[in-house]
Amino acid sequence: MIDRLREYGIHDEAVLSAIGGVERHSFVDQALASRAYEDVALPIGHEQTISRPTVVATMLAAVIAPMKSDVRKRAKVLEIGTGCGWQAAVMARLFGEVYSVERIRGLHENARKNLAPLRLANVRLAFGDGREGLPQVAPFDAIVIAAAGMELPEALMHQMAIGARLIAPVGGEEQALHLVERTSEDDWRVTVLEGARFVPLREGTA
Ligand code: SAH
Repeated sequence: MIDRLREYGIHDEAVLSAIGGVERHSFVDQALASRAYEDVALPIGHEQTISRPTVVATMLAAVIAPMKSDVRKRAKVLEIGTGCGWQAAVMARLFGEVYSVERIRGLHENARKNLAPLRLANVRLAFGDGREGLPQVAPFDAIVIAAAGMELPEALMHQMAIGARLIAPVGGEEQALHLVERTSEDDWRVTVLEGARFVPLREGTA
């Protein structure tokens, strides 16, 4: 899988080694385990999917681009859409502290089970509507949103530290990754990157 990511154009060694360090097959149903190392989104129940490795690698490489490795290893980051917990495990290998929010109770609990054997001391899972973020823990040095809203969630923009990056798919049928950089208390720079295909970012909990 790492060779495929390199071919795809991911050159960030920290991202490659974080992804290579997590067994993706242990986050999906046994019947799908043989496909866990293909670059595909796979079903994880509740009509949700584990994201494609190339997409996760692209998003992580984009948010960490300006970070020196010592800064990265101390960074406090937020993931919206825990799903099965795979990306949270990858992020735990890159960052100091990882918070991940999921709105579907069954997935939140399943992610907890999937992550337990990895004994990652720096990951905190929360159940709730991630569009609200985690104001009690903010500001974050990076935010990664794994589901597509029609716009960038306002509350999350305000939970970015100055200089932090946020990456999120935006759109409905047609989506594109948006990379946001908070340049001051009142300014955010948004760059639209490549097209994407994510499950929708929904309101409330289930
Ligand atoms: N990163 C995940 C993939 C997540 S798929 C992994 O590695 O498996 C996107 C997830 O976002 C789904 O589980 C979906 O339930 C969740 N989601 C959608 N809207 C949300 C919201 N408002 N708050 C939190 N999670 C949300």
